Amino acid sequence: MRGSLGGPRVLLRRLRETMAEQISAQERLDKIVVLIAANMVAEVCSVYVLRVDGTLELYATEGLNREAVHLTVLNAGEGLVGLVAKEAEPLNLPNAQNHPAFSYKPETGEEIYNSFLGVPILRAGNTLGVLVVQNRARRTYSEEEVEALQTTAMVAAEMIASGELTAIATPGHEPAARRPLQMNGLALAEGIGLGRVVLHEPRIHVTNVIADDVKAELARLDGAVETLRSSIDVMLEDEGMARAGEHRDVLEAYRMFAQDRGWMKKLQEAVQTGITAEAAVERVQSDTRARMLRQTDPYIRERLHDLDDLANRLMRELTGADPEARTSNLPDNAILVARNMSPAALLDYDRTRLRGIVLEEGAPTSHVAIVARALGVPTVGQIANATALSDQGDAIIVDGETGEVQLRPPADLERAYVEKVKLRARRQAQYAALRDREAVTKDGVKIDLLMNAGLLVDLPHLAEAGADGIGLFRTELQFMIAAALPRTSEQYTLYRSVMDAAKDKPVTFRTLDIGGDKVLPYLRSVEEENPALGWRAIRLSLDRPGLLRAQIRALLRAAAGRELRIMFPMVAVVSEFDNARALVERELTYLRRHGHRLPNQVMVGAMLEVPSLLFALDDILERADFLSVGSNDLVQFLFAADRGNAQVANRFDPLSPPGLRVLKMIADTCKRHGKPFTLCGELAAKPLEAMALIALGFRSLSLSPAMIGPVKAMVLAANVGEAEKAIQPLLKGGASGREKLRAFAVEAGIPV
Ligand code: PEP
Ligand code: MG
Repeated sequence: MRGSLGGPRVLLRRLRETMAEQISAQERLDKIVVLIAANMVAEVCSVYVLRVDGTLELYATEGLNREAVHLTVLNAGEGLVGLVAKEAEPLNLPNAQNHPAFSYKPETGEEIYNSFLGVPILRAGNTLGVLVVQNRARRTYSEEEVEALQTTAMVAAEMIASGELTAIATPGHEPAARRPLQMNGLALAEGIGLGRVVLHEPRIHVTNVIADDVKAELARLDGAVETLRSSIDVMLEDEGMARAGEHRDVLEAYRMFAQDRGWMKKLQEAVQTGITAEAAVERVQSDTRARMLRQTDPYIRERLHDLDDLANRLMRELTGADPEARTSNLPDNAILVARNMSPAALLDYDRTRLRGIVLEEGAPTSHVAIVARALGVPTVGQIANATALSDQGDAIIVDGETGEVQLRPPADLERAYVEKVKLRARRQAQYAALRDREAVTKDGVKIDLLMNAGLLVDLPHLAEAGADGIGLFRTELQFMIAAALPRTSEQYTLYRSVMDAAKDKPVTFRTLDIGGDKVLPYLRSVEEENPALGWRAIRLSLDRPGLLRAQIRALLRAAAGRELRIMFPMVAVVSEFDNARALVERELTYLRRHGHRLPNQVMVGAMLEVPSLLFALDDILERADFLSVGSNDLVQFLFAADRGNAQVANRFDPLSPPGLRVLKMIADTCKRHGKPFTLCGELAAKPLEAMALIALGFRSLSLSPAMIGPVKAMVLAANVGEAEKAIQPLLKGGASGREKLRAFAVEAGIPV
């Protein structure tokens, strides 16, 4: 930066000293603008701070009229300053007043200044304010000057983010940086959690901003990038791809960025302004995040996310931060905030210290959501930008009932939530009191309430929830959280422990349901246009019978001397069931021949989740020992509405005539064949839907243990005869029967 006094490094050092001084926030800001103006040979330097209402307030100035400080306020998007904030990009103009966005504020006296350079004050991609320099002479600021001002803005960002400015803010118009935020997402796991933010991948706070030796910093940067590149190459070459969750396409994208000249150039330029390599990564990362937040194209967003992840890796490389430290120093009221995480990563944390999880992504049927439900940790997903908006240690509330997240909640809101938690605890106590009561309706009909499970951590729920057994054991979860394919002996051990824990209660094991969205990190996955309709579940199992045979053998051996119940997922045609059943017979013959002790009885069932099977019900019921309706998939395929896509997942109501009629047909046909049937999808976990199922003829439901209490309370208050009458007329017509069913329940005093 030619003509400046001492260059950016001297300025940064002075700013650092000013930050450390024991002075008021206003004095500090006043000093900062004087320092910047002098260093950049600018006649004006001003700081505008973004307020909670989206407006920008002049907080300090050198050069403009001092009376305008705290008086001049620009509306969102107003003027050049508003434009910089909105676009989150620098604006460099030799003749500001000619710009269409220029807005005249007479109290500032800025009309005599022609050139204008404004840069956003960014932190983790969020705009906190705008930093401006102005000159009378018409000039375009050099690229170095733009860089230098952006670097300076990092210091301003730190000051705003510290919360220090609240003391000099007009009440009700505080800086937006630390404002309370209410964010609405998707409830993924039940419950309410109050606690403190723990960033799953913590942003590394750069304390060492100013470089002593630019050359040495450039060398450090080069060295770190080199290490990063080779570590990605190593991961890519590793055929086993043992690191769970790191899929090939992500790694390929990493490699692309790590070799991207533009990225490298930006990092080097930032270092050349006089900051350390890690500060340069933070600066460039902040720009990337700002771009990411404005990006609507999902593919580009995803790639920017990859770039962001890569910057995190580079930052860890430079600072030597230990990524494992996060799981050890956990506060006892931790609320994890992450873009997304694998089930394995979640299980690394001490469950007893987790109060909640907030994810930027995540769908109800995603693996992490299933594990979070199993662990009983309240979880909300689809909270855009959660990781950038929250800071380590911020107060936060997760409401897994409504899908709301309260970040830095005001005291009265926090009190309201404390009350809500107490109320919930009272309700839970009421459900617990029902634990040992049989689920029998008022007119004496017994309903079997089984639970869904998939991991060892689920098993204590069997007794706690008072479930009649396990109606769906998702065996793929063991495979999903493992770093490598579980050996037959490991499968055997798990199955045995499950049956031991269940004692004499029945357990239905579902064979591997992988493929589709359930990807195993260590098995090379096949690119598919429509994975949900692709090579998954029983299709994959029959094509790779080795995997299925090993699992069946583990199950048969684990069930020695007891009853074994197995079912196959995604059966579309009866021949698939026949082939799978034949494998069971073959394994039985093998074990018998080798003198192994066999199960007392083997029951083999089919899951009904593919609509084609609805038209082969008689055939399948002649072959299968029982049927289990997987309503998550059945509903998705029936209405052609992707269960994982928030936009369409709830578009169609299973309680509308097509859904009700399908369910009734299933119940009627099973009864005619005298074959046991159950339903194990999410439908069973909602009291109103469960009431409808009972009215349609279902007597056995399998659901997440947390919902057994509420569903049992419904059963105890219901009268099947009356419910049957109420649902009859709803099987016809065009509209959903939901509201009529609810009205019936309310009238009859049934808690739904
Ligand atoms: C279902 O599809 O309803 C089911 C129980 O299986 P999953 O959710 O594991 O696909
Ligand atoms: Mg399914």
